[in-house]
Amino acid sequence: EMVVHSEHDVVIYSDSGNRYSARRLSMMGELRQAMQSDGELTLFYQPKLDLHTRQVVGVEALLRWTHPVHGNVPPDQFVVMAEHTGLIKPLTQWVLQRALRQLQHWQSQGLALGMAVNISARNLREAQFCEQLLAQLHAVQISPDTLTLELTETAVMCDQEVALRVLRHIREAGVQIAMDDFGVGHSSLSYLSQLPICELKIDKSFIFALDRQPDDTAIVRTTINMAHDLGLRVVAEGIESEQVCERLQALGCDLGQGYHIARPMPAEQLVAWLRTVRTES
Ligand code: C2E
Ligand code: MG
Ligand code: MG
Ligand code: MG
Repeated sequence: EMVVHSEHDVVIYSDSGNRYSARRLSMMGELRQAMQSDGELTLFYQPKLDLHTRQVVGVEALLRWTHPVHGNVPPDQFVVMAEHTGLIKPLTQWVLQRALRQLQHWQSQGLALGMAVNISARNLREAQFCEQLLAQLHAVQISPDTLTLELTETAVMCDQEVALRVLRHIREAGVQIAMDDFGVGHSSLSYLSQLPICELKIDKSFIFALDRQPDDTAIVRTTINMAHDLGLRVVAEGIESEQVCERLQALGCDLGQGYHIARPMPAEQLVAWLRTVRTES
């Protein structure tokens, strides 16, 4: 990365040569501050459902940033900016710390939940990432196998050797690894089998219209069967209707997430929601 200071503007050129505006840069300064003062940044949690038993097995932590001027900033927007400015390292630490503390709290209340956290390609290039993660897990006395790290295909592909080494290390310690947004990247099936992953999350673009699009059904069926042959469990994200949910069940999909089941929500709301679904069954 190259930073160019001029009288009128500050611009940063990312690896790909994109120009970052002064406004975006100042937002990154504000994000740094938001991490220090509690309130603007929070985690929402979206339930993950076992499609065979319809029981909640865990949650995915999703970042929310309410900017004092710009309002809610979509996470995929500020996460990408954080990746290009190096802020992703403290941001991921922020998320992991809160998500693990929350998980510890829930587990101490007797809630048997797993926690999934999204991480970035950049995190896998940090030499200390694995050691820090294991220390954090140890500090909250959480069994590593109740944590799943979700990463996208590109995250692993851009610096394969280092990323693979870090991933293997993490996996050997018992932490689960999921491939997120599967199907929109470029991984081949043989490549997938080399990764130390436990879970495949089919991208929501294939799930939305599953009950109406024969092509999507073919893709999803093939992906589920292939993943099972590789010993992976399969998650469908973006389930927006009961029809799609039943279709996925029939196709043998293991887990599901989506607005039809529940939207991402604050921790307190999740506990109340869990109470309502657990008394229903
Ligand atoms: P993701 O990890 O693939 O998360 C799934 C996204 O789909 C979430 O968007 C979720 O709110 C949304 N979603 C879930 N069910 C449905 C549904 O039924 N319909 C539709 N239309 N959407 C659904 P969100 O929260 O805006 O997050 C977007 C992306 O931002 C995430 O995609 C992830 O890549 C990234 N992200 C979010 N939080 C974090 C974080 O803490 N760290 C990192 N590195 N990335 C994060
Ligand atoms: Mg995810
Ligand atoms: Mg996804
Ligand atoms: Mg995504």
